Amino acid sequence: MGELERLMEGNGRYLSAPSQKDFVKMRSETANGQSPFAIVLTCSDSRVPPEHIFDAGIGEIFVVRTAGNALDSIALASIEYAAEHLHCPLIAVMGHEKCGAVKAAWEAGEAPAPTKSLAKLMKAIAPSVGKAKKKGADMESAANFNIKAQMRAILRKSPICKHLASEGKLTVVGLKYSIESGKVEQVK
Ligand SMILES: [Zn+2]
Repeated sequence: MGELERLMEGNGRYLSAPSQKDFVKMRSETANGQSPFAIVLTCSDSRVPPEHIFDAGIGEIFVVRTAGNALDSIALASIEYAAEHLHCPLIAVMGHEKCGAVKAAWEAGEAPAPTKSLAKLMKAIAPSVGKAKKKGADMESAANFNIKAQMRAILRKSPICKHLASEGKLTVVGLKYSIESGKVEQVK
């Protein structure tokens, strides 16, 4: 089974019958090393917990979370570690419906952000918001553009990921989570 299928199957279990986890066994099996099958870059939103959403146990998914699943240099270094040293073959960038970070960027428009850190976050999402507004599309479209923008940013900013992807050892996919239905869908 491919890694993306494995994530989607996990999401299917989350929606119907999440598996019983033997954390004691999982801890002992992973105590001497980890080999997660997927890297998940997703939003910090408390309603978007990746381990639950993919019905994953300990050591299965390598999770990086930032507001708006925005890529910064430390998030990228974390992803590179998992891709290069843990040989994780899949990066899933997962956005979600009703994302507060996207909404903030949508509402801020060109207005200056009140803090430097928030300005960085808004800057990361602004191009996707601008693209959606230009097309007359809605905020959810901006969230989808943002997923794709962060996917591209990984390959553009990381020579390591770009190299692994060119060798067929790494795939980057986009996903979107519905906080109402619990369903994950691919964003193409
Ligand atoms: Zn969010």
